[in-house]
Amino acid sequence: MKNALLPLTLAWLIAAPAFAQHEHKHDHGHQHAHVHGVAKLEVAVDGGNLSLRLESPLEGLLGFEHAPRNDQERATVVEMRKKLADAGKLFAPTTAAQCTLKSVQVAAPSLDAKPAASQNTAAEHADLDADFLFNCAQPAKLTGLDVRLFQAFPNMRRIEAQVVTAKGQKATRLSSKMRFLSW
Ligand SMILES: [Zn+2]
Repeated sequence: MKNALLPLTLAWLIAAPAFAQHEHKHDHGHQHAHVHGVAKLEVAVDGGNLSLRLESPLEGLLGFEHAPRNDQERATVVEMRKKLADAGKLFAPTTAAQCTLKSVQVAAPSLDAKPAASQNTAAEHADLDADFLFNCAQPAKLTGLDVRLFQAFPNMRRIEAQVVTAKGQKATRLSSKMRFLSW
């Protein structure tokens, strides 16, 4: 009986992200892909500054992509904002580098839209951008970052990460089983 469900599940997994990407391109003309469960993370190391930019479909963070319409959705948004503000738990740079979180900026305009305005936009997609800045007392010891977003946001399945340091540029694909970025 269990096996009978397998083809259906696979079909859904393949079809759902493809649909999301297609629709987003047509709605907004953006060139970047919006695929549910897939986020982008840009990491820049510049002296003692470690800056991170996360770009994620809201679905991966909330399970929906519109301004909250009821108490449960409002609570989910509050919870998400708390997790992002407490970014020291989401990103763990090399301990010896002694990095501390300096600032967090979150932009998700569609969450602030008036409910009336978002009523007829159920099919639209929306992203969240977040910037995190850490300052590291021992930058020479900074060699990597443990990305813990997958535990905090179970809908997130993959992160396309890009690291830029004085040594150069490196792209890495992260998942809950491969969540460590090193450079
Ligand atoms: Zn979407």
